[in-house]
Amino acid sequence: LEATALSRTVPVGGFLSRARRTLLDGVSLTLERGEIVALVGESGSGKSTLARVLARLDAPDGGSLRLGGTDVLTSEKRASLAYRGRVQMVFQDPFASLNPVHTVAYHLERPLLRHGRATHADLKARVHALLESVGLTPAESFARRYPHELSGGQRQRVAVARALAVEPDVIIADEPTSMLDVSTRRGVLQLLRGLTRERGIGILFITHDLASARHLADRILVLYAGRVVESGRTSEVLAAPRHPYTRLLLSAVPDGADFLHTPLPVKAGAGPAPPRGCAFAPRCPQADARCLNTLPAEHLPAADHLVRCHLESSKGVPDDAAVPS
Ligand code: SF4
Ligand code: MG
Repeated sequence: LEATALSRTVPVGGFLSRARRTLLDGVSLTLERGEIVALVGESGSGKSTLARVLARLDAPDGGSLRLGGTDVLTSEKRASLAYRGRVQMVFQDPFASLNPVHTVAYHLERPLLRHGRATHADLKARVHALLESVGLTPAESFARRYPHELSGGQRQRVAVARALAVEPDVIIADEPTSMLDVSTRRGVLQLLRGLTRERGIGILFITHDLASARHLADRILVLYAGRVVESGRTSEVLAAPRHPYTRLLLSAVPDGADFLHTPLPVKAGAGPAPPRGCAFAPRCPQADARCLNTLPAEHLPAADHLVRCHLESSKGVPDDAAVPS
Protein backbone atom coordinates (compact mmCIF):
# COMPACT_ATOMS: atom_id res chain seq x y z
CA LEU A 1 0.00 0.00 0.00
CA GLU A 2 1.39 3.33 -0.97
CA ALA A 3 -0.28 6.63 -0.09
CA THR A 4 1.18 9.88 -1.35
CA ALA A 5 0.36 13.41 -0.24
CA LEU A 6 -3.13 12.66 0.99
CA SER A 7 -5.09 15.67 2.12
CA ARG A 8 -8.60 16.16 3.37
CA THR A 9 -10.48 19.23 4.51
CA VAL A 10 -14.02 19.60 5.78
CA PRO A 11 -16.27 22.64 5.72
CA VAL A 12 -16.77 24.48 8.99
CA GLY A 13 -19.18 27.17 10.11
CA GLY A 14 -22.37 26.19 8.31
CA PHE A 15 -23.07 25.74 4.65
CA LEU A 16 -22.89 29.42 3.69
CA SER A 17 -19.40 29.64 5.05
CA ARG A 18 -16.51 28.87 2.75
CA ALA A 19 -14.15 28.16 5.62
CA ARG A 20 -12.62 24.70 5.66
CA ARG A 21 -10.71 22.88 8.33
CA THR A 22 -7.70 20.82 7.34
CA LEU A 23 -7.78 17.30 8.74
CA LEU A 24 -4.93 15.84 6.70
CA ASP A 25 -2.19 17.76 4.97
CA GLY A 26 0.12 15.95 2.60
CA VAL A 27 0.35 12.63 4.43
CA SER A 28 2.43 9.93 2.71
CA LEU A 29 3.04 6.41 3.89
CA THR A 30 3.95 2.97 2.65
CA LEU A 31 2.99 -0.36 4.10
CA GLU A 32 4.64 -3.56 2.91
CA ARG A 33 3.27 -7.06 3.19
CA GLY A 34 3.99 -8.62 6.55
CA GLU A 35 4.82 -5.27 8.09
CA ILE A 36 3.22 -3.45 11.00
CA VAL A 37 3.28 0.32 10.85
CA ALA A 38 2.05 2.24 13.87
CA LEU A 39 0.32 5.55 13.42
CA VAL A 40 0.60 7.48 16.65
CA GLY A 41 -0.91 10.77 17.70
CA GLU A 42 -3.33 12.24 20.17
CA SER A 43 -7.04 12.55 19.46
CA GLY A 44 -7.72 15.12 16.78
CA SER A 45 -4.37 14.55 15.08
CA GLY A 46 -6.04 13.02 12.02
CA LYS A 47 -5.43 9.32 12.73
CA SER A 48 -8.99 8.16 12.20
CA THR A 49 -9.43 10.44 9.19
CA LEU A 50 -6.38 8.88 7.60
CA ALA A 51 -7.71 5.40 8.41
CA ARG A 52 -11.03 6.19 6.75
CA VAL A 53 -9.36 7.65 3.69
CA LEU A 54 -7.10 4.61 3.35
CA ALA A 55 -10.09 2.29 3.72
CA ARG A 56 -11.93 4.39 1.11
CA LEU A 57 -14.71 5.24 3.53
CA ASP A 58 -13.93 8.94 3.05
CA ALA A 59 -12.58 10.62 -0.06
CA PRO A 60 -9.42 12.73 0.10
CA ASP A 61 -9.22 16.16 -1.56
CA GLY A 62 -5.89 15.28 -3.10
CA GLY A 63 -3.15 12.70 -3.23
CA SER A 64 -2.84 9.20 -4.57
CA LEU A 65 -3.46 5.76 -3.18
CA ARG A 66 -1.88 2.72 -4.75
CA LEU A 67 -2.09 -0.97 -4.10
CA GLY A 68 -0.06 -3.06 -6.49
CA GLY A 69 0.59 -0.14 -8.83
CA THR A 70 -2.88 1.17 -9.66
CA ASP A 71 -3.99 4.50 -8.29
CA VAL A 72 -7.39 3.57 -6.91
CA LEU A 73 -8.51 7.17 -6.50
CA THR A 74 -8.51 7.80 -10.22
CA SER A 75 -9.28 4.32 -11.51
CA GLU A 76 -12.65 2.98 -12.50
CA LYS A 77 -15.23 1.62 -10.13
CA ARG A 78 -14.23 -2.02 -10.52
CA ALA A 79 -10.65 -1.41 -9.40
CA SER A 80 -12.00 0.62 -6.54
CA LEU A 81 -14.30 -2.21 -5.43
CA ALA A 82 -11.45 -4.69 -5.66
CA TYR A 83 -9.39 -2.39 -3.46
CA ARG A 84 -12.10 -2.40 -0.81
CA GLY A 85 -11.87 -6.16 -0.67
CA ARG A 86 -8.10 -6.08 -0.26
CA VAL A 87 -8.01 -3.43 2.46
CA GLN A 88 -10.08 -4.24 5.52
CA MET A 89 -10.71 -2.23 8.61
CA VAL A 90 -11.05 -3.21 12.25
CA PHE A 91 -12.68 -0.52 14.34
CA GLN A 92 -12.17 0.65 17.86
CA ASP A 93 -15.48 -0.39 19.31
CA PRO A 94 -16.09 -4.14 19.18
CA PHE A 95 -19.52 -3.58 20.70
CA ALA A 96 -20.74 -1.37 17.88
CA SER A 97 -19.17 -3.27 14.99
CA LEU A 98 -21.21 -6.45 15.27
CA ASN A 99 -24.94 -6.73 14.65
CA PRO A 100 -26.66 -7.92 17.84
CA VAL A 101 -29.40 -9.85 16.03
CA HIS A 102 -27.00 -12.09 14.09
CA THR A 103 -24.83 -14.97 15.17
CA VAL A 104 -21.06 -14.96 14.91
CA ALA A 105 -21.32 -17.40 11.99
CA TYR A 106 -23.54 -15.00 10.06
CA HIS A 107 -21.00 -12.18 10.41
CA LEU A 108 -18.36 -14.38 8.76
CA GLU A 109 -20.56 -16.11 6.17
CA ARG A 110 -21.55 -12.88 4.47
CA PRO A 111 -18.09 -11.66 3.48
CA LEU A 112 -16.99 -15.22 2.63
CA LEU A 113 -19.83 -15.62 0.13
CA ARG A 114 -19.80 -12.08 -1.21
CA HIS A 115 -16.12 -12.20 -2.04
CA GLY A 116 -16.23 -15.75 -3.35
CA ARG A 117 -13.98 -17.09 -0.59
CA ALA A 118 -16.36 -19.96 0.17
CA THR A 119 -19.17 -21.92 -1.44
CA HIS A 120 -22.31 -23.01 0.35
CA ALA A 121 -20.79 -26.50 0.54
CA ASP A 122 -17.66 -25.49 2.45
CA LEU A 123 -19.08 -22.46 4.24
CA LYS A 124 -19.28 -24.06 7.66
CA ALA A 125 -15.74 -25.37 7.48
CA ARG A 126 -14.43 -21.96 6.38
CA VAL A 127 -16.23 -20.22 9.25
CA HIS A 128 -14.75 -22.67 11.74
CA ALA A 129 -11.27 -22.27 10.27
CA LEU A 130 -11.53 -18.49 10.61
CA LEU A 131 -12.63 -18.73 14.22
CA GLU A 132 -9.76 -21.07 14.99
CA SER A 133 -7.28 -18.71 13.34
CA VAL A 134 -8.28 -15.95 15.76
CA GLY A 135 -8.18 -18.24 18.76
CA LEU A 136 -11.93 -18.67 19.30
CA THR A 137 -12.21 -22.36 20.07
CA PRO A 138 -14.16 -24.57 20.12
CA ALA A 139 -15.22 -22.95 16.87
CA GLU A 140 -18.62 -24.70 16.68
CA SER A 141 -19.61 -23.21 19.98
CA PHE A 142 -18.48 -19.65 19.09
CA ALA A 143 -20.12 -19.82 15.66
CA ARG A 144 -23.54 -20.27 17.25
CA ARG A 145 -23.23 -17.43 19.74
CA TYR A 146 -24.65 -13.92 19.53
CA PRO A 147 -22.49 -10.83 20.13
CA HIS A 148 -23.95 -10.27 23.62
CA GLU A 149 -22.70 -13.71 24.62
CA LEU A 150 -19.09 -12.65 23.99
CA SER A 151 -16.59 -10.58 25.93
CA GLY A 152 -15.09 -7.43 24.42
CA GLY A 153 -11.90 -9.23 23.50
CA GLN A 154 -13.82 -12.09 21.88
CA ARG A 155 -15.88 -9.63 19.87
CA GLN A 156 -12.75 -7.91 18.63
CA ARG A 157 -11.44 -11.33 17.56
CA VAL A 158 -14.65 -11.86 15.60
CA ALA A 159 -14.09 -8.46 13.95
CA VAL A 160 -10.57 -9.56 13.02
CA ALA A 161 -11.90 -12.87 11.68
CA ARG A 162 -14.42 -10.96 9.58
CA ALA A 163 -11.62 -8.85 8.12
CA LEU A 164 -9.62 -12.02 7.40
CA ALA A 165 -12.58 -13.65 5.65
CA VAL A 166 -11.92 -11.76 2.43
CA GLU A 167 -8.19 -12.63 2.54
CA PRO A 168 -7.04 -9.01 2.55
CA ASP A 169 -3.54 -7.69 1.87
CA VAL A 170 -3.94 -4.91 4.39
CA ILE A 171 -5.77 -4.49 7.70
CA ILE A 172 -6.26 -1.03 9.11
CA ALA A 173 -6.83 -1.36 12.83
CA ASP A 174 -8.08 1.87 14.38
CA GLU A 175 -7.32 1.70 18.10
CA PRO A 176 -8.38 -1.96 18.14
CA THR A 177 -7.56 -2.46 21.80
CA SER A 178 -8.33 0.86 23.42
CA MET A 179 -11.77 -0.22 24.61
CA LEU A 180 -10.61 -3.60 25.89
CA ASP A 181 -9.50 -4.20 29.41
CA VAL A 182 -5.81 -4.44 29.97
CA SER A 183 -5.70 -8.21 30.42
CA THR A 184 -7.36 -8.76 27.04
CA ARG A 185 -5.26 -6.29 25.05
CA ARG A 186 -2.08 -8.23 24.94
CA GLY A 187 -3.81 -11.23 23.39
CA VAL A 188 -5.40 -9.18 20.61
CA LEU A 189 -2.07 -7.45 19.87
CA GLN A 190 -0.31 -10.80 19.71
CA LEU A 191 -3.00 -12.06 17.36
CA LEU A 192 -2.39 -9.11 15.01
CA ARG A 193 1.34 -9.66 15.09
CA GLY A 194 0.93 -13.36 14.32
CA LEU A 195 -1.28 -12.59 11.32
CA THR A 196 1.26 -10.29 9.72
CA ARG A 197 3.94 -12.93 10.07
CA GLU A 198 1.95 -15.99 9.02
CA ARG A 199 -0.15 -14.51 6.25
CA GLY A 200 2.00 -11.66 5.05
CA ILE A 201 -0.72 -9.12 5.79
CA GLY A 202 0.36 -5.51 6.26
CA ILE A 203 -1.19 -3.88 9.31
CA LEU A 204 -1.59 -0.19 9.94
CA PHE A 205 -1.94 -0.06 13.70
CA ILE A 206 -3.49 3.19 14.85
CA THR A 207 -3.01 4.00 18.48
CA HIS A 208 -2.61 6.80 20.98
CA ASP A 209 -0.49 4.44 23.02
CA LEU A 210 3.16 4.86 22.21
CA ALA A 211 4.15 1.91 24.31
CA SER A 212 2.01 -0.61 22.43
CA ALA A 213 3.37 0.85 19.18
CA ARG A 214 6.86 0.15 20.49
CA HIS A 215 5.88 -3.39 21.33
CA LEU A 216 4.23 -4.18 18.01
CA ALA A 217 5.38 -2.03 15.12
CA ASP A 218 8.28 -2.29 12.66
CA ARG A 219 7.92 1.35 11.71
CA ILE A 220 6.18 4.30 13.29
CA LEU A 221 4.58 7.48 12.00
CA VAL A 222 3.91 10.32 14.40
CA LEU A 223 1.00 12.48 13.33
CA TYR A 224 0.40 15.99 14.62
CA ALA A 225 -2.37 18.29 13.38
CA GLY A 226 -2.84 16.29 10.19
CA ARG A 227 0.84 16.07 9.24
CA VAL A 228 3.50 13.43 9.72
CA VAL A 229 6.05 15.14 11.96
CA GLU A 230 8.39 12.18 12.37
CA SER A 231 8.61 8.68 10.93
CA GLY A 232 11.10 5.86 10.73
CA ARG A 233 11.97 2.46 12.14
CA THR A 234 10.30 2.13 15.53
CA SER A 235 13.49 1.18 17.33
CA GLU A 236 15.36 4.12 15.84
CA VAL A 237 12.68 6.76 16.34
CA LEU A 238 11.94 5.75 19.91
CA ALA A 239 15.59 5.36 20.88
CA ALA A 240 16.58 8.73 19.42
CA PRO A 241 13.50 10.85 18.76
CA ARG A 242 14.31 14.05 16.87
CA HIS A 243 11.04 15.94 16.74
CA PRO A 244 10.12 17.87 19.91
CA TYR A 245 6.61 16.41 19.80
CA THR A 246 7.89 12.82 19.69
CA ARG A 247 10.14 13.68 22.63
CA LEU A 248 7.18 15.05 24.53
CA LEU A 249 5.23 11.86 23.88
CA LEU A 250 8.12 9.71 25.00
CA SER A 251 8.70 11.69 28.15
CA ALA A 252 5.18 10.70 29.19
CA VAL A 253 6.08 7.01 29.04
CA PRO A 254 7.88 6.14 32.24
CA ASP A 255 10.93 3.89 31.95
CA GLY A 256 10.06 0.25 32.25
CA ALA A 257 6.37 1.03 32.34
CA ASP A 258 3.96 -1.68 31.37
CA PHE A 259 3.33 -1.00 27.73
CA LEU A 260 -0.38 -1.18 28.26
CA HIS A 261 -0.67 1.60 30.81
CA THR A 262 0.68 4.67 29.15
CA PRO A 263 -1.79 7.14 27.71
CA LEU A 264 -0.50 10.23 25.96
CA PRO A 265 -0.17 13.43 27.96
CA VAL A 266 -3.23 15.61 28.16
CA LYS A 267 -3.02 18.57 25.85
CA ALA A 268 -1.45 21.46 27.71
CA GLY A 269 -3.21 24.83 27.63
CA ALA A 270 -1.62 25.95 24.38
CA GLY A 271 -2.68 28.72 22.05
CA PRO A 272 -3.99 28.12 18.53
CA ALA A 273 -1.59 26.91 15.87
CA PRO A 274 -0.06 29.72 13.80
CA PRO A 275 -1.67 29.80 10.32
CA ARG A 276 1.59 29.60 8.38
CA GLY A 277 4.12 28.14 10.78
CA CYS A 278 4.62 24.89 12.64
CA ALA A 279 1.36 23.64 14.17
CA PHE A 280 3.26 22.41 17.22
CA ALA A 281 4.79 25.83 17.97
CA PRO A 282 2.36 26.81 20.77
CA ARG A 283 3.41 23.72 22.75
CA CYS A 284 7.00 23.42 21.65
CA PRO A 285 9.72 24.21 24.20
CA GLN A 286 12.15 25.00 21.38
CA ALA A 287 9.95 27.21 19.23
CA ASP A 288 11.41 30.45 17.90
CA ALA A 289 10.20 33.22 15.57
CA ARG A 290 10.87 31.15 12.47
CA CYS A 291 8.53 28.44 13.75
CA LEU A 292 5.62 30.89 13.93
CA ASN A 293 6.03 32.11 10.37
CA THR A 294 7.38 29.31 8.24
CA LEU A 295 6.15 25.77 7.82
CA PRO A 296 9.10 23.46 8.51
CA ALA A 297 10.18 21.25 5.62
CA GLU A 298 10.68 17.52 5.79
CA HIS A 299 14.24 16.51 6.59
CA LEU A 300 15.82 13.08 6.28
CA PRO A 301 18.52 12.91 8.96
CA ALA A 302 19.02 9.22 8.16
CA ALA A 303 17.73 6.82 5.56
CA ASP A 304 14.08 6.07 6.27
CA HIS A 305 13.93 8.61 9.10
CA LEU A 306 11.88 11.71 8.42
CA VAL A 307 11.53 14.76 10.66
CA ARG A 308 9.50 17.88 9.99
CA CYS A 309 11.12 20.53 12.20
CA HIS A 310 13.23 23.67 11.69
CA LEU A 311 15.78 22.42 14.21
CA GLU A 312 16.90 19.83 11.67
CA SER A 313 17.91 22.47 9.16
CA SER A 314 20.07 24.29 11.69
CA LYS A 315 21.94 21.07 12.52
CA GLY A 316 24.03 21.41 9.41
CA VAL A 317 22.07 18.86 7.47
CA PRO A 318 23.19 19.13 3.85
CA ASP A 319 20.68 20.74 1.52
CA ASP A 320 20.20 17.66 -0.55
CA ALA A 321 18.94 15.78 2.49
CA ALA A 322 15.90 18.02 2.68
CA VAL A 323 12.76 17.01 0.87
CA PRO A 324 10.91 19.96 -0.61
CA SER A 325 7.34 20.02 0.63
FE1 SF4 B 1 9.23 23.18 17.61
FE2 SF4 B 1 9.86 24.87 15.69
FE3 SF4 B 1 10.44 22.29 15.40
FE4 SF4 B 1 7.91 23.14 15.28
S1 SF4 B 1 9.55 23.64 13.87
S2 SF4 B 1 8.65 21.40 16.39
S3 SF4 B 1 7.93 24.79 16.81
S4 SF4 B 1 11.29 23.70 16.92
MG1 MG C 1 -9.88 8.21 16.61
